[in-house]
Amino acid sequence: MTVAFENTFAGSGLDRAGARRSDPAWIAAQLSAPDAVALVLWTGKLLSTEAGVARLAAAQVRALEADDENLVFLGLQGSAPVFAIELGGDDDPAETVLAGLGVFEELRPLALRLPHEQASEAAAARSLFEWRRRHRWCANCGQPTHTADAGWKRVCPACGTQHFPRTDPVVIMLAVYGDRCLLGRQATWAPGMWSALAGFVEPGESLEEAVARELREESALNASAMRYHSSQPWPFPGQMMVGFIAEVDSDQAQADLTELEAVRWFTRSEAAALLRGELDGAFAPPPLAIAHQLIRAWTEG
Ligand SMILES: [Zn+2]
Repeated sequence: MTVAFENTFAGSGLDRAGARRSDPAWIAAQLSAPDAVALVLWTGKLLSTEAGVARLAAAQVRALEADDENLVFLGLQGSAPVFAIELGGDDDPAETVLAGLGVFEELRPLALRLPHEQASEAAAARSLFEWRRRHRWCANCGQPTHTADAGWKRVCPACGTQHFPRTDPVVIMLAVYGDRCLLGRQATWAPGMWSALAGFVEPGESLEEAVARELREESALNASAMRYHSSQPWPFPGQMMVGFIAEVDSDQAQADLTELEAVRWFTRSEAAALLRGELDGAFAPPPLAIAHQLIRAWTEG
C-alpha cells in the first residue's frame, strides 16, 4: 500500500496476523520458530545498540522466562515472528542478564536515528506495555484482568468484559491565513520552541469539528476550510495524531492563556527558517513530529 505521507512511528510493515494471534497454540509455535526474534523493553525503554533497536533470538527470549503477561506478539516480518518482551525489576537488565547486548534507551531520542520500520515496531510495543500497565484491573468491576490474544486484549474473568488497547485521537492543525501560519507555545516547552495547535477529540465530535473547536478555544480563530494531511501513532503513551492544515478567516488570533503562553504568526519564509532552526533562537519540533511535517508541507506547498 502507498500512503501520501508516512510519519515516524508508522510503517512497521509487519503482518499483525490478527486472525491467528488469538490462538495460543499458534503463538507458542511462533515463539518456538528458529527465526523468531524479540524486542526487549524495561521501564518503557528499548534495548538498543548503535545499529538501532536490538532483536534477541527466540532462544535468548525463552531464557528470560517469557510468559503470557510479559510477552506480546507484534507480527510477522515475512515468515519470521516478531515479539516484544518487557522485563521487570529495579536493576538494569543490560548490566545483568543482557550484559553485552546493548543499553536501554528512551524511545523518543532513540527514534531520531531509527528507520521507520524499527521506530514503528518499538512504538507498538511501548504502547501495548504502557496500556497493560494502566489496565491491570477491570474498568467495569475492579477485578484483576488477564492477557489474551498475545497481548492485544485483556479479559476480566469476573464479569467477562473484554478490554482493548487504547488509541486516543488528537487533532493537530496548522492554521494558515494568506501567506502566514499560526503556531503556539506552552510555557513548559523548551524556550524558543513553537508548534502547531492540538487537542484531544471529544466524544460526539468529528475530527473536523474538533479542529474547528480547538482553533476557536486556543486562538479565537474560525476555520473556513481544512484538509487532512497525515496521521501519526504517538506512543507516549498511546495517542493517534491526526494532522490538518486549516485556513482561517482572520488574523486576529488571541492565545488561550490557560493552555498557551503565546501564539505567533510566521510567514512562509520564516516558517521555513524555523524548521531549519535559523530564526533568531526560535525552532520547530524535530522531523519525527507530525507538527514539523505539517509546517514543512505548507512551506513547500
Ligand atoms: Zn470485570
